[in-house]
Amino acid sequence: MHANIWEKTLKDIAESVDEHRYQTWFSPLRLADNTDQTTLVLVAPNRFVSDFLDQHYKERVLSLLRRHSSQIRDVSFVSSENAQPPTDPPREAKSTSPPPQRQSKQPPVRQVVSQPGLNKRFAFDSFVVGSGNEFAKSAALAVAEAPGKTKFNPLLIYGGVGLGKTHLLQAIGNYVRSAYPDHHVLYLTSEEFYLQFIDAIKNNNTKTFTSRYRTCDLLLVDDVQFFSGKESTQEEFFYTFNSLYQNGKQIVLTSDLPPATLKGLQDRLISRFQWGLCVDIQPPDLETRVAILKRKAEEDNLNIPENVLYYIGENVSSNIRELEGIIIRILAYASITKTDITIDLVKTIVKRSVQPEKARVSLDHVIQTVADFYKVPVNNIRDKNRRKEVAHCRQVAMYIAKNITNFSLKTIGLNFGGRDHSTVIHAIHQIDDLRKKDASLRRDIDYIINSLKIE
Ligand code: ADP
Ligand code: MG
Repeated sequence: MHANIWEKTLKDIAESVDEHRYQTWFSPLRLADNTDQTTLVLVAPNRFVSDFLDQHYKERVLSLLRRHSSQIRDVSFVSSENAQPPTDPPREAKSTSPPPQRQSKQPPVRQVVSQPGLNKRFAFDSFVVGSGNEFAKSAALAVAEAPGKTKFNPLLIYGGVGLGKTHLLQAIGNYVRSAYPDHHVLYLTSEEFYLQFIDAIKNNNTKTFTSRYRTCDLLLVDDVQFFSGKESTQEEFFYTFNSLYQNGKQIVLTSDLPPATLKGLQDRLISRFQWGLCVDIQPPDLETRVAILKRKAEEDNLNIPENVLYYIGENVSSNIRELEGIIIRILAYASITKTDITIDLVKTIVKRSVQPEKARVSLDHVIQTVADFYKVPVNNIRDKNRRKEVAHCRQVAMYIAKNITNFSLKTIGLNFGGRDHSTVIHAIHQIDDLRKKDASLRRDIDYIINSLKIE
């Protein structure tokens, strides 16, 4: 019974905290095997996580739990290193409840966040506006208020990684879902569109696929740059687009670059993307970064001094996802060491966490650079060529792609001629092992990575 309640609660949590917080604090939790009906015991991987949750999230988690079961009176966090029953059990707790030493056998519920669809966390209200994104936000809001009725059809939002494209796209979806409950809203990434389409072809199911996407009222497609080079998927999307457009349905897209510069996309598609309105999101300026940091800190009832917020805003990259990450690390550090959040503490952490910008480099560029280095034709890396040198070069390229970009294993595999993610994992392990033994390979890889970063 508790497993069920916890699973639902975890889903609520995923919709109310950002991904970093979810991954850091909640996704590692396991339900303890306790027989007590009124106290839910959650096992954290270590003492630090359980203490942190106890201090910062206990009330919030409890109130979410109680939405699903009014029987629950208390929640306690214990660490698996030292799983003890709560030191001060609530009166209702049975004194015989065994200590939660074993982890429960419930199925893992990690996939909650990665499920396709809308996440309520992405709302217009939680989107901090600054000069770099205010136009995009206004356009998104206008579309959400009157989907299909404005001139902004399609609306295309483009900009760099971690700048809020998905946030706005999903905010439109959430808004429309609640303002127009009878509207059929679909959100997906272009990668999902591609995978589902391929599946439909395999299973002789294209009719269902086609009608699913051509009958919605609002279609939100994230990261359309991924359609690049996928001819039949582009064709399918072209017809979907036309059908929706002709019927006055709203389409909203995002991409990492302005449509005119997207490579590997058919001209007719690019021209359609430009029929409505294309808006860009620029990296946030200092004021906006500080406002975002302030907002994130408030979400945890954290009081971070203004000068500290400015220090972070000035020294951390403009990628908002990284700003979120740094707040979590600061929090984590301050709670382990039980110190206040001071500028000195933050300086140490910022210095340690600022990483070279990831994911600016495209996979095409990685493949091209590795191919040039090893003097192997690019096409051989992508296709099924099994020659030993080619296979090695392909593995090196996959290894580098994983190390210097944020692309998922799935995406990397797909860019290497549609290989699956286990092949990518295998390649990464293989190269990792070789690197340890082979100094010249290490040098080669460092050289390639450096040349990718300099450009
Ligand atoms: P993108 O899709 O452009 O790569 P996301 O929309 O995923 O970026 O944003 C990354 C993270 O930053 C998300 O957690 C998002 O909620 C947050 N974020 C981005 N822009 C803002 C903003 N203006 N205000 C508040 N949070 C933001
Ligand atoms: Mg995104």
